[in-house]
Formats: sequence, structure tokens, C-alpha cells
Amino acid sequence: MLVFSSFKEMAMLTYAFYSVNEAKKAADKRVHHDNTDCGPGKAIPPSDKRYGKGPINDPYRLCEDCEAINKEAAEKAKMYRT
Ligand SMILES: [Zn+2]
Repeated sequence: MLVFSSFKEMAMLTYAFYSVNEAKKAADKRVHHDNTDCGPGKAIPPSDKRYGKGPINDPYRLCEDCEAINKEAAEKAKMYRT
């Protein structure tokens, strides 16, 4: 069994992932996530989770929640820098 030594450490990493169930949604509703703090992203059961932005030939757009979190993080980073 693969065990992560620190979940927090893992949660800080940003990588694209999506749910296999996105394929059941209408094409314009399909999204991928790239922030592990995203609520809908967190709700994806590990068994349904796939890494990447969706099927290689038909990638999904980024989910709005991830976009908002990323934007907020970018703003914060900017604040710390100045
Ligand atoms: Zn998301």
C-alpha cells in the first residue's frame, strides 16, 4: 500500500487531476482540477481520480473553484513579494 508520509505536504503540490465521471457529464460541464484545496476536487473518490487534464485528445477546462483558489494564492504570493 502506498502511504504518503505527510498529507499536508502532498496537498501543497499542484498537479492536474480529474474524475473519470466527468465523461458522463455534458461536454461543456467537464472540468479538471489542479489544486488539491478545491472542494469538488477533494470530493473525487481516489478510485475515480485520474491524473492529467482529461483524455489526451480531449482535455477538460480548469474548474472555477481551482481557478479562484489559484488566483487567490497568486495574489497572496504577490503581496508577500512586495
Ligand atoms: Zn477544482
